Amino acid sequence: LDLLVQSIAKDAAKTKDNIPVSLNINTGLAVDFEVARGIKADGIGLYRTEIPFMIRSCFPSELEQMELYQRALDAYPNKPICMRTLDVGGDKPLPYFPIKEDNPFLGWRGIRMVLDHPEILLVQVRAMLRANMGRGNLQILLPMITSIDEVIECLRLIEQAHTELSEEYDQVISYPKVGVMLEVPVAMYQIGLLSELVDFFSVGTNDLTQYLLAVDRNNSRVANLYDYYHPGVLEALQYIAEQCEKYAMPVSICGEMASEPVGLLLLLGMGYRNFSMSAQSLLKAKWVLKHTSVEQVQNLKFQTKSLSSPEQVRQLVEVLLEQNQ
Ligand code: PEP
Ligand code: MG
Repeated sequence: LDLLVQSIAKDAAKTKDNIPVSLNINTGLAVDFEVARGIKADGIGLYRTEIPFMIRSCFPSELEQMELYQRALDAYPNKPICMRTLDVGGDKPLPYFPIKEDNPFLGWRGIRMVLDHPEILLVQVRAMLRANMGRGNLQILLPMITSIDEVIECLRLIEQAHTELSEEYDQVISYPKVGVMLEVPVAMYQIGLLSELVDFFSVGTNDLTQYLLAVDRNNSRVANLYDYYHPGVLEALQYIAEQCEKYAMPVSICGEMASEPVGLLLLLGMGYRNFSMSAQSLLKAKWVLKHTSVEQVQNLKFQTKSLSSPEQVRQLVEVLLEQNQ
């Protein structure tokens, strides 16, 4: 068994019928690079930059940030490292920048906060672009995007940081690909317009589920209502896959759903081929993919349409998982 596990760990992820799948890691701490060592991954699909911010006692300087980002870019040289700009607020407080609100998840979080403090975003993007000098594998991801204007403003700031650095260093600074998170539900209805502005999308199933169901993702009283397998949530994810296909936009999944075998198979059946998950889940995901063919899962999206509860969805996919073991 050990040998089998080792060979799965070393091989690139693919399905039983040899369809290649991109598997990446979600991280924010250098320790994850160790956890993932020895397991071949395709890059970092989500680097949560707020994590190093949260464990400090003040905003890290541009230089400190640059060093952190260099480590992340060096963890997978020549593979894409998708760095998300600061996503604080909601459940992610900064001890040195308190935000008091009645409805923090509907409030000043993610891109909303940094657009009111463009200096925070500018310093961060400068640090990212500087870290990327001589490397070239940086991608930038914008969280909590709700409107086109927010994206335009972010792109303007990224451009500004790029122009500043090009002048300061008097050399060509490579321009990163920029993507948007699809996690505020309304953004999925703007995929057409957004695709004219950015290079890729990443679906945040954690927040998307929370906002579609109007269920606080961290409230234990309603935890039983928070479920990615709600057939309506699946319908939304199917719609996103179709829209991205229509506009020929690369899309990945970076929420936790992809780390569960049931979720992974549902998403695979919808057409998603790029996933990002915690380093601990990588091996299991590879195993599940290796034992499942796309053919087996592509009808799930039709079958789930007639189901009425998350339990029924889970049962449907679990039968398939058991058959394949
Ligand atoms: C998400 O919302 O699904 C996501 C990946 O981001 P976070 O969990 O950091 O909010
Ligand atoms: Mg999120």
